[in-house]
Amino acid sequence: MTTNLLNYDVKGLADFCTEIGEKPFRAKQLLRWIHQFGITDFVDMTDLAKGLREKLTTLAVIESPQIISDYVAADGTRKWLLSVGAGNGIETVFIPEANRGTLCVSSQVGCALACTFCSTGKQGFNRNLTVAEIIGQLWIANKTLRIDPKDNTADTNRVVSNVVLMGMGEPLANFDNVVMALDLMLDDHAYGLSRRRVTVSTSGLVPAIDRLRERCPVALAVSLHAPNDSLRDQLVPINKKYPIKELLAACQRYLLAAPRDFITFEYVMLDGVNDSVSHANELIKLVRDTPCKFNLIPFNSFPGSDFRRSTSEAVCIFRDVLMQAGIVTTVRKTRGDDIAAACGQLAGQVKDKTRRSTYIKAETAE
Ligand code: SF4
Repeated sequence: MTTNLLNYDVKGLADFCTEIGEKPFRAKQLLRWIHQFGITDFVDMTDLAKGLREKLTTLAVIESPQIISDYVAADGTRKWLLSVGAGNGIETVFIPEANRGTLCVSSQVGCALACTFCSTGKQGFNRNLTVAEIIGQLWIANKTLRIDPKDNTADTNRVVSNVVLMGMGEPLANFDNVVMALDLMLDDHAYGLSRRRVTVSTSGLVPAIDRLRERCPVALAVSLHAPNDSLRDQLVPINKKYPIKELLAACQRYLLAAPRDFITFEYVMLDGVNDSVSHANELIKLVRDTPCKFNLIPFNSFPGSDFRRSTSEAVCIFRDVLMQAGIVTTVRKTRGDDIAAACGQLAGQVKDKTRRSTYIKAETAE
C-alpha cells in the first residue's frame, strides 16, 4: 500500500522519511517539489538521490482530488468540481481581482449544521475531507493557474494570494485536518501565505474558535446573519448550543491572538427576514465592544429555498446605517453567477447524507 504524501505537513513528511530510513531534512525538499512545483512524479525531483527517488516511487504517491469539471465565468471566476470518491463531489472557486486572487476552499463533503438559507446545508453531510483533499484544492488551483510551474521564483507566479475556508462545510468541525492544511498554507516551503491572507469562516463553534486561537490563529470570519438569538436560532441552528453572547466573547478572546485587529462578520441579506433598519440598529448595539467589519452577502437563491434576496435598496440602507455607526461595511460583489459559484451556491454532490442527524444530535445535546 502506498502513502499519499499530500496528507502530510513538514513534520509528517519528516516522520515518513525517518520511517523509510532517510534523513528527516528531506521533508523540506519534498514539500517544495510537491507544493511549489506541483510535481507528482518522484523521478522529476532532481535534487533527491536516485535511490530515494526509486524508494518513493514504490512507497508513496502524490494524489489530489480528481477534476470532474472546470468552468470559467464571464467575470473570470473559475469553479472546479472535484471528485473525492464514492460519488461525492466538492467545489473550489477562484476569484481573480486586480490586486489579489482568492481561492475559496471546501472542508467537508456536505455540512451537518443545516443553516436554513444555505444550499450546502440543505444537502446533508457525508464526511470530513482529508488533509490531501483540503490542501489538494490549493495544489490544483496553483498548478492550473500558474504561468510556468517550474518557475516559482517570481511572486507573480503565486496566483492564489488569499485563501478563504468558506466553501462546502464547517471548517472548525473538521479541526485537525483543517489545521494541518493551514500549516501547509503558511509554511514557507509549501505556499508561504501570511496568516492575514488565510481566513477561516465559522458558523460559531465556540470551543473550536478557542482551539484555533491557540493552535493556528489565522484571520477569522464569523457567519452571524442575525442580531438576536431568536432569529439566529432559526437561521443558524448551532446558535442554540453556542448563543450570540458566548460567540462574541470567543471573538474577543480570539482577537488577542489574531493577525488582524478585527473579526469579519458575514451577514447574508434575506428579504423581510433580517434586513430592516431596526435589525441594523440591533446589530450596532450587539457588536459595540467587538472590533469588527461587516460583509453583507446578497442571498443567492437555489431550488427548494424559502428565502428571497433583499432588494438593492434595503442592502444599501442597511450598509449605510452600520457605516454611520462607524462600522466598516462592505457588500460582497456577486461573482460567477453564471456558473453558480456565488456564496451559498457551492453544493457539489453529496452521497449518503444520513450522518447529519447524528452530528446535529451530538452538537445540540445539553
Ligand atoms: S452556512 Fe456554512 S455552516 Fe451553515 S450549513 Fe452552510 S456550509 Fe454549513
